[in-house]
Amino acid sequence: MVYCSNCGKEISDESNFCFKCGTKTAKGKTENVAYPADELKEALERTGIELEKAFIIAARETKAAIKKVKENMQESKTTNTEKVRNNLACPHCKAENVQNAVFCYHCGKKIETE
Ligand SMILES: [Zn+2]
Ligand SMILES: [Zn+2]
Repeated sequence: MVYCSNCGKEISDESNFCFKCGTKTAKGKTENVAYPADELKEALERTGIELEKAFIIAARETKAAIKKVKENMQESKTTNTEKVRNNLACPHCKAENVQNAVFCYHCGKKIETE
């Protein structure tokens, strides 16, 4: 086990990124894994202002999605505490992440939950 340099979360040795906050691990740095935030920055610089508009719309949708997730979480807390779910598969690289993962330990991309 190693610990995230940013949030201190215990993460598995083969992780390239912290599953909790998305910070690149020492291993990720050593292997020079592309950081999704860098990709995003480059994409922003390339496409400029049009993407800004898209982001405003996306932000609106994200807010609605977060609200929905929060509602679902509250529901599952009260009704489904004993229900065991399978591990999360990353939609980008198919790596299996722990159920409460926010970022993929393997590729570092954000895992979207329904
Ligand atoms: Zn972290
Ligand atoms: Zn992944």
